[in-house]
Amino acid sequence: MEREKIDKKYKWDLSEIYSSDEKVKKDYKRCEEITKKLETFKGKVIKNSNTLSEVLDLNAEQDRILSKLSTYIGLNYTLDTSSSFWSKKSDEFTDFYSNISSRLSFIDTELAKLTTNTLEKYLKENKDLEKYKFNLEHIIKESKHILSLEKEILLSELSPALFSSSSIFDKIDNADVYYDDVLDKDGKKHKLTGGSYREFTRSSDRTLRKNAFISMLKYYEKRANTIGECLKSSVKTNGIISKLRNYKSSLERSLSYDDITPEFYEKVLSDAKSHVKTLHKMMDAYKNALNLDEMHIYDINARVGSFNRTFEIEEMKKIVKESLNVMGEDYLKVADEAFTNGWIDYYETKGKRSGAFSAGCYDTKPYILLNYTGSFDDLETLAHELGHSIHTYYSIKNRNAIDYYYPIFLAEIASTTQEVLLNDYLLKTCKTDEEKIYILNNILSNYKSTVFRQIEFAEFEKIIADKIESGENLTAKEFTDIYLDLQKFYYGPNVINDELIKYECLRIPHFYSQFYVYKYATGLAIAYIFANRIINNEKGAVDSYIKFISSGGKTYPLDILKEAGIDLNKENIFDDSISLINNYLDEFIKLTKGVNHGKKGLLWTFRCR
Ligand SMILES: [Zn+2]
Repeated sequence: MEREKIDKKYKWDLSEIYSSDEKVKKDYKRCEEITKKLETFKGKVIKNSNTLSEVLDLNAEQDRILSKLSTYIGLNYTLDTSSSFWSKKSDEFTDFYSNISSRLSFIDTELAKLTTNTLEKYLKENKDLEKYKFNLEHIIKESKHILSLEKEILLSELSPALFSSSSIFDKIDNADVYYDDVLDKDGKKHKLTGGSYREFTRSSDRTLRKNAFISMLKYYEKRANTIGECLKSSVKTNGIISKLRNYKSSLERSLSYDDITPEFYEKVLSDAKSHVKTLHKMMDAYKNALNLDEMHIYDINARVGSFNRTFEIEEMKKIVKESLNVMGEDYLKVADEAFTNGWIDYYETKGKRSGAFSAGCYDTKPYILLNYTGSFDDLETLAHELGHSIHTYYSIKNRNAIDYYYPIFLAEIASTTQEVLLNDYLLKTCKTDEEKIYILNNILSNYKSTVFRQIEFAEFEKIIADKIESGENLTAKEFTDIYLDLQKFYYGPNVINDELIKYECLRIPHFYSQFYVYKYATGLAIAYIFANRIINNEKGAVDSYIKFISSGGKTYPLDILKEAGIDLNKENIFDDSISLINNYLDEFIKLTKGVNHGKKGLLWTFRCR
């Protein structure tokens, strides 16, 4: 579609961020003035409570303006990625930003010298510092891991070389990647890519599923020694740097930012693993629904049921809103605002970035980008992104510009809660058993991929880091053996783990950003806890959810959740979600049991985002 022809209510009006180029220039100018002013504080940042307060205020003002500029330019650019005008503006902003960052890098270095005693004294002297208390305490906590200036400079200069293993893997996995074409059951050839692999593994055509699996993993098998070396080098480097920075392990270092301990990480793994029987039961149910004699590892993502309806935009809005009725009036008013006040850019237009996201800052709306086609996926995506944006809205409304921004650990909870509410609503209102089976399959498969698969990855990361950091020399053989054992444990005795699956551990980019994936699993578990309470109309459930989304990043993630009534250190964090998942699974088994797979078979659809 052409942007000009799209109704105003279905697209962003970014001129509401800056109505003229003059205003943009004025903000650039103000940032430059602030930088100059801040430069005069060099060597004096923590000299006394007044200098500290003044520096932090100026810094916060500048951050706020920079975020606004970045949002304005970034969003305009995503609307037309082929535009040389916005590409140039975007480069200009990046240069401007890195210039400021390097001129003001002394601020972080000086802040890191702050001690708890000095901070306490300053806080008593100057009440204006109170709003920075959490951030400053965080800096003090992290400061014991900052090295001497010479060492920091050395590390930063060596950094591209130290982490080259991850860029080498990236080249093997992207720039140089070439998978063999795959044949479907009719002998038709298909091109295999990262995107089509996802689609093929969900296909009803078993030949296509199997061939895609073989072609994909053969690629990594042939490069196993090289990739194994990359992975080992990456883990080893992280281990060395962590020890250099006074951490006991790379695990401790990765979790420290969120104030999470290695013990908590292990608790998450064992909590999830204690429910692995649910995954085995799910696999048996899929085997039956797919009418297979043997369930192979390339069968586990095949989709069951069908959902062939498409939705007009107004219909999508109506469904999402109805699914949110359980949230009460105040929340619905915000959803209404999102739908009527230009938060969402719906249509695919020439040059517009693909996919979907939610983005904004303290001085803009929490915008949503979609590429609407009317599919079931779009409905789920709308609910998901709206969850993010409403989270941002409440955080902006209730926090200040310094701490409204919530950490990644918490970022996917609101979006997933809305997805759970939507699926629950659709289950209660869908028209046929085929649709019901499709939705149940969708819920179960999401849980499988987001919880069990990510926990398996998280466990793999922990095992190999422990071994490498204690001096063991791992090669591709050890990596793949460890992975195959995990596969057998997670998917259970009734799934045949074809030998090639062991090379899957060599194609996971996340392993180069250590100990990140467990957050996907915790995010989903927490979303289920909130959604479960809300769906069951538990007293105070909506209020504590609103409290959670109103907290921004005012403190560490586990403390924010505790204030909202979720104590992750107590009990098994997956219990609530598993009990819901078991209900859905029983319903799925009931509905797929009596189906005649003989002549007609179940209907199938592809699903890809
Ligand atoms: Zn998201």
